[in-house]
Amino acid sequence: MIEADLTKGVKVNAGVVAKSFRDEIKEKVEAMKQEGLEPPLLVGLLANKDPAARKYAEWTGKACRADGLRYELRTLDDPIDVEAALIDANDDPRVHGIIVYYPIFGQEESFSGASQDDYLRDSVSHKCDVEGLCHLYRTNLYRNVRYLDYPTNNQKCLLPCTALSVVKIIEACPRTYDMTKPVGRKLEGKTVTVINRSEIVGRPLAAMLANDGAVVYSVDINSIYMFKDGRLHPCPDETPESCVRKSSIIVTGVPTKNYKLPTEWINPNSTVVNVASFKNVDEEALLKIPGVVYVPLVGKVTVAMLERNLMRLYEQFHAPHRYLKNAYHNSSTMVSSPWSFRLQAYSAVVLTAILALQILKK
Ligand code: NAD
Repeated sequence: MIEADLTKGVKVNAGVVAKSFRDEIKEKVEAMKQEGLEPPLLVGLLANKDPAARKYAEWTGKACRADGLRYELRTLDDPIDVEAALIDANDDPRVHGIIVYYPIFGQEESFSGASQDDYLRDSVSHKCDVEGLCHLYRTNLYRNVRYLDYPTNNQKCLLPCTALSVVKIIEACPRTYDMTKPVGRKLEGKTVTVINRSEIVGRPLAAMLANDGAVVYSVDINSIYMFKDGRLHPCPDETPESCVRKSSIIVTGVPTKNYKLPTEWINPNSTVVNVASFKNVDEEALLKIPGVVYVPLVGKVTVAMLERNLMRLYEQFHAPHRYLKNAYHNSSTMVSSPWSFRLQAYSAVVLTAILALQILKK
């Protein structure tokens, strides 16, 4: 848990949050090796010259290799080949996760969806969708459906890595999540402002925080909406200033150099997370506000969430039975299914009956 300083603001390196998740991955990879299993394989598809996408691909490979996961980057010269490469990877039983580096077609006209990139996002199999952005996971998030296999509830829906990283960072900050409350209510009573409403960052993040019980203002360049109790309300009378002044958690993701969130809007004891690759806030002024916790970068946790999602896909859809049996046996965090409870109860009855028969015979 990150500590606050009540006399001034504190700046937090998100690496401390990433470390615990990456350590857990390393432990699981080690356990697989003991079983003679190969670690999960993530395939990256890169078909653009965008330096940010190339950097992200490079980082992903480095982090995966450092933590013992397998990563294979497949570069394609022509964007038109991405769909075939994606279908190949979807159908390949050796592949456990797929990440496509966007933009590929950008906003180019498409007959298959709102854009060709949206169509590609929806074409990733949910069994390999490490980014949690395909139609199934997206719609489940917006409907607040957390599991794929109701009512057994053993298979969790995957969540988008960047938004999930912000949730994990907020969870680690003081005065945010109340872990004594039940799932879905841990942010009850909190107001959050998310300045960004893109498909990969602000929109899923606002939904996730609202699904955890917060009132969330979703601010973008043209409009403001409030997410509350699973519903989206337009807020024509609110301004970015009125939203931030009501909030104790503020997330900024404005992709421009000149944007600066006015620090006089920010309350003491707030949590401020900057997702953008630009500094959206004057750090020096912010850190003068008592009790503020400021997280300037989330990239390290995003990569940790990518690895965690890969491991989840592997365990839910690809792992051989013997690995799962041992993992379930060794891990206290895995949930036992109702079937395993039934099996245990059944075994107990049979054993008692055998014992009773033997006593009677004597
Ligand atoms: P995007 O361009 O798709 O979306 C930007 C959003 O910000 C839009 O909703 C837009 O309306 C809003 N916006 C722009 N100017 C605004 C303003 N003045 N006031 C209010 N809202 C405004 O970008 P994106 O993909 O969401 O990325 C946003 C930033 O986050 C980028 O800097 C990107 O590099 C960074 N990012 C970081 C990570 C990570 O893990 N570290 C991951 C994804 C994106």
